[in-house]
Amino acid sequence: MIKNEPITPEYKVVATSLFPSRDIEPDALEAGRLLFARECRFIAGAADAAALPGESLPEVAFLGRSNVGKSSLVNALTGRRTLARTSNTPGRTRQLNFFALDERLMLVDLPGYGYAAASKSAIAAWTRLIQHYLRQRGGLRRVCLLVDARHGIKEPDRPVMALCDAAGLSFQVVLTKIDKLGSTEQVAIAEDVAAELAKHPAAHPEIHFTSAEKRLGIAELRATLAGFAAADRPDAEVRPSVANAGRPR
Ligand code: GDP
Repeated sequence: MIKNEPITPEYKVVATSLFPSRDIEPDALEAGRLLFARECRFIAGAADAAALPGESLPEVAFLGRSNVGKSSLVNALTGRRTLARTSNTPGRTRQLNFFALDERLMLVDLPGYGYAAASKSAIAAWTRLIQHYLRQRGGLRRVCLLVDARHGIKEPDRPVMALCDAAGLSFQVVLTKIDKLGSTEQVAIAEDVAAELAKHPAAHPEIHFTSAEKRLGIAELRATLAGFAAADRPDAEVRPSVANAGRPR
């Protein structure tokens, strides 16, 4: 009998949608599934700092270049086709949109950047607002920096990473549109991204691979994000039967 042979118990899921790949506990996947099956409520759209809603929940923010697939990913995560469409409605494109998931986690959809036709004043306004949000938001637990898997990290992403470093704000790369690449290309791009992340003190080293279109890596990203959700809703005392459902004491 060979001793010390690593054993992968059958009940664990080896997540190839993570780089480096690792096991994910079924409990974590289930927590993600349950959380994202709950109600996701639009709270506010903020076009300037004064309009930011008060901080009531832990937050995770989604950020990336325009056209990276952010709306598609947010909709795939929440299982709703139109949740993030508000951010693509003309006139509302520069807003930060806040969605409360099960009243336990705030999902914040930040306006995309790097749009070639954007005017200098629009870029300056975007930068001011995002800087303000990222710097002052105490409850912001993680920034998901969305990166198109075909292109990797590009120049417009770098000031965002520098800002997170300066603010001590944990950010994590989520590769999108992974269905456009073969597995060898996926690993190559992840290695490139990982090498760049190693230079950023605020970068979480783990990279998620996702495809909203083919629904790849969605369960794993839900599991990661569920780790930031509040254990209880603020109204737990008021509605104990709902808040405690499925959680034996
Ligand atoms: P946003 O501007 O970042 O919100 O990006 P959208 O979600 O609107 O997506 C931009 C484009 O990328 C659209 O044409 C989508 O159909 C496409 N897209 C988004 N996600 C995926 C994906 O997972 N796979 C593929 N192949 N295309 C995608």
